[in-house]
Amino acid sequence: EFKENTVVVVFGASGDLSKKKTFPALFGLFREGYLDSSTKIIGYARSKLTDEDLRGKIAPNLKKPNGAKDDEKAEQFLKMVSYISGPYDEDQGFNTLRTEIEEYEKQKGVEEPHRLFYLALPPSAFMPVANNIKKLVYAKNGITRVVVEKPFGHDLESSRELQRDLSPLFTEDELFRIDHYLGKELVKNLLLLRFGNTFLNAAWNKENIQMIQISFKEPFGTEGRGGYFDEIGIIRDVMQNHLLQILTLLTMERPVSFDPESVRDEKVRVLKAFAPIDTNDILTGQYTKSEDGEKPGYLDDETVNPDSKCVTFAALGFKIRNERWDGVPIVMRAGKALNEGKVEIRVQFKAVPSGIFKDIPHNELVIRVQPNEAIYLKVNSKTPGLSTTTQVTELDLTYAKRYKNYWIPEAYEALIRDVLKGVHSNFVRDDELDVSWKLFTPLLNFLEGPDAPQPELYAYGSRGPKHLAEYLEKHKYVFEEQGLYQWPVSSPD
Ligand code: NAP
Ligand code: NAP
Repeated sequence: EFKENTVVVVFGASGDLSKKKTFPALFGLFREGYLDSSTKIIGYARSKLTDEDLRGKIAPNLKKPNGAKDDEKAEQFLKMVSYISGPYDEDQGFNTLRTEIEEYEKQKGVEEPHRLFYLALPPSAFMPVANNIKKLVYAKNGITRVVVEKPFGHDLESSRELQRDLSPLFTEDELFRIDHYLGKELVKNLLLLRFGNTFLNAAWNKENIQMIQISFKEPFGTEGRGGYFDEIGIIRDVMQNHLLQILTLLTMERPVSFDPESVRDEKVRVLKAFAPIDTNDILTGQYTKSEDGEKPGYLDDETVNPDSKCVTFAALGFKIRNERWDGVPIVMRAGKALNEGKVEIRVQFKAVPSGIFKDIPHNELVIRVQPNEAIYLKVNSKTPGLSTTTQVTELDLTYAKRYKNYWIPEAYEALIRDVLKGVHSNFVRDDELDVSWKLFTPLLNFLEGPDAPQPELYAYGSRGPKHLAEYLEKHKYVFEEQGLYQWPVSSPD
C-alpha cells in the first residue's frame, strides 16, 4: 500500500501546527501501519534545535487514539525523525537538506525518489520555501508532493497572486492544499450518505427540504491572541474554507465517478450556481463580557484594535440558483465565545400535509461533525403502548456506540495518507479556490470597508446575537416547541 523509502520534510517544524498536528498525524499513520518504517522524516526550521530537541518537542503528543502513551511505537517513530536548522530564503540550509536526502536515497538504492514537503509555515514564508524546494530538492526523476496550509490568500487578488507564483513551480498534481475539514470522518461520508441512499437522495431537493443550516460554534474567545484574529475574522477563519467545503459537498450534483477530478468538477459547478452573498441578508456579531463578568469581551483583548469591528460571529444566507435548490434558504453560521462547541449540519424537511395531523414536527436530519460524531434523523412515531399520540424520536447513528472497534483517523492522518498515495479528492483544486474567493471577497470588502455595519454585541457564553432566532425564522427554520423532543441523557446500552 505504501511506498518504501519515502522522504517527508516538515518546514516550520519548530512551530505549533507541526507539534500538534503534522508530527502526531505522521505518527498515527506509522502506529496503524500506514507509514513504512523506512520513511525518513526531516524537520526543518530556522530555530537552532538538535535532533533530540525536536524529538523532545513532539514526543508528548505521540499517543494512541484513546490518549494513552505508546512508548514502544513512539520510540521507533522518533528514530525516523531528524532536524535541520536553516533559513527559508537562502541556499545554505537547503543544500544540507539536499545532501541528506540524496545520501539516504543512495544508501537505500532508491531509483525513483518519493519526496513529500509539508509547509507548516506562515504565508510569508511559502514562496521562499517553494522556490528553494524547486531549485534544490525537487525529485527530478521521481515524485514530489507539496502540501500547503491555509490561508491560501486573504482575498481573491492575493489568492490569485499566490497561485500565479506557485503554478510555474509545481503542477496541480504535485500541490495539495489542505482544508482539514475535508479529512473529517463525517465530511468524508457526505457523498456516500447522499448518493448511496435512495431515500435521502430522493428527498434531497427543494420539493422536500425546507432549509439547511451549517453551524460552527466555539466555546472560547481569542483569549489574548486576538492580534492575529483581528485581521482575519470568523468568515475568513472558518467560513470561506471549512464551512463552504461542507456546503459544497452537501449541495453538489452526483459526480460521474468518485475519482478526484469528477468530484471536484461537480464542486466547482455548484459553486458557480451560488448567487452573490447578499449583504442585506447577513447577521454579524462581536462578543462582549460574559453575563457574570468573568470572561472578557473581544475588545478587552489587548492585542486587538480598541475600536475593531471584527466579526466574531456571522450568519450568512446563501441561495443556489439551480433546479435542485432554487428557493431553499441556506444559512451558514459561525461564532466564537458561544454557549458550546460543535460543528453540525441540520437539514430541516418540509411539513407533512395537514389533515390527519395537526402541527406535527418537521423531520430533521442532523449530521454532527464534531464533537462525538453522530447522524440522527428526527422522526415522528407513535407513542408506544395503548396511546395513539405521536412523539418525536430519532433514528440514531452515534459513532462511539456503533463503531466501538474502529480506528477513525484524525483529519490530518487521513489527509496525509491521501498525499502519500497521491489522491486529490479531499484537497482544494485551484479553480475551486478561485470561485470560493470570488463568492466571499465582495462580502469581506463590504465588512471591512467604510460602510461596514456595527456588529451586534452578544455576551461571551451566550447563544450568539439576540437577533439570531429571528434571522433563522426568516430563513424558514421552524424551532419546535421546547420539550417536544427529548434526547435520553443516559440510555441503557
Ligand atoms: P507558527 O508556529 O507561527 O509558525 C511555524 C514556524 O514558522 C515557526 O516555528 C517559525 O519557525 C516559522 N516562522 C514563524 N513566523 C515566521 C516568519 N514571519 N517568517 C518566517 N518563518 C516564520 O505557525 P503554525 O501555527 O505552526 O501554523 C503554520 C501554518 O499552518 C500557518 O499557515 C497557519 O495558518 C496554518 N494553520 C495552523 C493551524 C494550527 O493549529 N496552528 C491550523 C490550521 C492551519 P522558525 O522561526 O524556527 O523558522
Ligand atoms: P436542539 O438543541 O433542540 O437545537 C435544535 C436547533 O434549534 C439548533 O439549530 C439550535 O441552535 C436551535 N435552537 C436551540 N435553542 C433555540 C432557541 N431558544 N431559539 C431558537 N433556536 C434554538 O437540538 P436537537 O437536534 O433537537 O437535539 C437535542 C439534544 O439531543 C442535543 O443536545 C443533541 O446533541 C442531543 N442528541 C444527541 C444525539 C446523539 O448523540 N446521537 C442524537 C439526537 C439528539 P444551536 O445549535 O445554536 O443551539
